[in-house]
Amino acid sequence: MTQNSKLNHTLCFVCQSNEYVQISLNQNLVDASDFHDSKHKTIGYSYFLAVCKICGHSAVQTDNSCWMPTRKYDFIKYGEPIEHYPRVSLILRELNLDFEDISIHTFSYKDFQLANFLANELKISDINLNDHAGCSDDWLPVVSSDGTKKEPLPLEDFMTEIKKSEKSHQLILITRFFDHVANHDLLQKILDLSSPTRHFVFDLNDYERLFELESLEFIWNERRNLFRRSHLESMLQKHNLKYSIFSYESHEVAPTLTGVISEKLVMTPKSKAEEVTVLPAPNLVEKLTTLRQQWQGKLGMTHRLGIIGASHKGVSLVQFVLSDHVQYSLHDDKEALRGKTPPVNPPLGFHLVSGFDFSDYSHVAITTTLVIAAKIIPKLRASGYTGEILDFDCQKLD
Ligand SMILES: [Zn+2]
Ligand SMILES: [Zn+2]
Repeated sequence: MTQNSKLNHTLCFVCQSNEYVQISLNQNLVDASDFHDSKHKTIGYSYFLAVCKICGHSAVQTDNSCWMPTRKYDFIKYGEPIEHYPRVSLILRELNLDFEDISIHTFSYKDFQLANFLANELKISDINLNDHAGCSDDWLPVVSSDGTKKEPLPLEDFMTEIKKSEKSHQLILITRFFDHVANHDLLQKILDLSSPTRHFVFDLNDYERLFELESLEFIWNERRNLFRRSHLESMLQKHNLKYSIFSYESHEVAPTLTGVISEKLVMTPKSKAEEVTVLPAPNLVEKLTTLRQQWQGKLGMTHRLGIIGASHKGVSLVQFVLSDHVQYSLHDDKEALRGKTPPVNPPLGFHLVSGFDFSDYSHVAITTTLVIAAKIIPKLRASGYTGEILDFDCQKLD
């Protein structure tokens, strides 16, 4: 299913090449977080999983012109880990800044918690909590009446806020920016904000470690750049930025990288900063092909699949892993999703988990976190369910 058709406007974010090994994720896909009211019309786009032939960077590419696919609606909220906060504050302390003369700026609601923590720890009183990331629809380029395209409004707002700060230094929190950035100008403008008096904190999934796990559950269509650590580093070096990055484990989220970008960091300059780091291509395209075959082998025409957990993972399973003829239903108990129409169209409907009778189902896929799955499985079995219980990667869960 490797395709030759190319979305040629998307150059590799690491090396600017447009030579990829790519596989179609699917056509006509709406955002995985697009749980909408039934009357709302959705627009679908084509998505590809692409691995750069030159540097080995992998990305999700699309004809969707959104600069920053964050989330589709305000009511969708994701939890973020907090275990690494003390370490971030330690790195910032070592910068020897005058914390009375610094302002904090957030890019997204996901930064509020860290902003509050740092304000409290470092005694910073000028704290600006704004969700500039907002929703994906805010990040479409603005077309003015004479047809010229302007950058999306939230970017202008974000930059204006930072430039208007009356403090000598700014601390800018951009959690999850790098995974989601989908436009070269946006990346450039955010990195260009960096200066000797502006300091950044970011985090992103540790894709190096995720690629080593035998799983593809971290791929979804709003995550556009699966930066590995040394690719990110070479990108920062190209911009002459100094950084300090650490990785950590969390019980709630996937392996993660967190970093501080600051001119005040002491770093031995890399000698060949202008050379692109080449990493081995992760075999994601092959892995996805295999995963599709595994599910196909599992589910015949007469089988029924109940998917528990309508998160990105559950929706992605339907969007680009399962074949079209699969008879499935989608299940979630989250209050915010009640009465919403999901981004996929389950032939057997969108239902609650609790109280649902799965006895007619040959298979159940659990696409929640493992912690929640561990609570669901005994309940399912206690209710007399005897079918197979699988995870996103088609592996048995009990
Ligand atoms: Zn590349
Ligand atoms: Zn995300």
